[in-house]
Amino acid sequence: MSFLSQTLARVKPSSTIAMTNLAREMAAEGRDIVSLSAGEPDFDTPLHIRETAKAAIDAGHTRYTAVDGIPELKQAVADKFRRENGLDYAPQQITVGTGGKQILYNALMATLNPGDEVIIPAPYWVSYPDMVTLGGGTPVIIAAGIDSGYRITPEQLESAITPRTKWVILNSPSNPTGAGYGETEMRGLTDVLLRHPHVWVLADDIYEHLVYDDFRFVTPAQVEPRLIERTLTMNGVSKAYAMTGWRIGYGAGPVELIRAMANVQSQSTSNPCSISQYAALAALTGPQDYITESRAVFQRRRDLVVAGLNQCEGIDCPVPQGAFYVYPSIARLIGRTTPEGTTITDDRSFAMELLNATGVAVVFGEAFGLSPHFRISYAASDAQLSDAIARIRGFCGSLR
Ligand code: PLP
Repeated sequence: MSFLSQTLARVKPSSTIAMTNLAREMAAEGRDIVSLSAGEPDFDTPLHIRETAKAAIDAGHTRYTAVDGIPELKQAVADKFRRENGLDYAPQQITVGTGGKQILYNALMATLNPGDEVIIPAPYWVSYPDMVTLGGGTPVIIAAGIDSGYRITPEQLESAITPRTKWVILNSPSNPTGAGYGETEMRGLTDVLLRHPHVWVLADDIYEHLVYDDFRFVTPAQVEPRLIERTLTMNGVSKAYAMTGWRIGYGAGPVELIRAMANVQSQSTSNPCSISQYAALAALTGPQDYITESRAVFQRRRDLVVAGLNQCEGIDCPVPQGAFYVYPSIARLIGRTTPEGTTITDDRSFAMELLNATGVAVVFGEAFGLSPHFRISYAASDAQLSDAIARIRGFCGSLR
């Protein structure tokens, strides 16, 4: 009998991390690599946040804190939800964890029983299905392709709901597509959910602030306040304030759920890093200039990447509403052959051949549950992006 758990045997390691590591190894061997596989802002954490963290160390904030967050931070999160989303949460409805990832993990571990279903629109963030599996639940995938703007329809949601559905996970703007649900589209989904009172909503709003043009971000409980009693609204400082390494995420929901999540956290990691909590407090309560500045930079890069990719032979790239990803289709390249004689059979072989031939690292669509596509993270410099696009164009043009 295997020493490792049977549940773990069904869980895949993250493909995004695998591609990033492969690119890193190739770079260490001296290859000229442009890695567009990692999902993190390439900016430094704003100065006032770093200074606050240093002061927190000197002030002795270096001990255990309350398991799911210091009271000041919970208050700041409650204020953020009121100010930015029109959502009224009391501090005891707030939980703080080690990244948004732990908030999602806690919620699923605290609520799933064998046989429970979790609806996940594809393409999805790589961790959702595996977290559901780890929690003993069953992921139910509904596909939203390029023709629907990578957004599920109310009809698709309706037909995926069964008596065993426990959660539906909604991620807008999305990783990996950047697609966002505007108010009308979100209302289409919340109207369906109103008719199914046993289904809970897990709103992953981590890319809230990275939205472009005139797209207006909305979160489900804001669009339909009657859902607030069965919604966990999740967010964090990683993407909004270039704080991926600090590991602070937060969530808000009904007190019973929040207490159960704190229970899971108390038996796993205890409090998130004390110093990072003070840094997150500074992020949420201090100047918000970084958000506006980074948004303008990301929008410019998005436009550069979308225009460049659409000039590549065989690539179709829609314009995303947010996040820092594009998710182009390579349907027209399937079956073509590289100059070395390798046939592009799927998006995995496309990504591998692209990496080998040009040194550009992207993540294949299979990892996100929708093929044939690939994901580019444009959280990289304009020079790197232009270089990568030129290499991709050369590669696509060389296929026969
Ligand atoms: N949700 C989505 C859609 C993400 O892309 C990520 C990070 O890549 C997270 C949640 C988790 O973010 P963190 O744990 O850094 O807060």
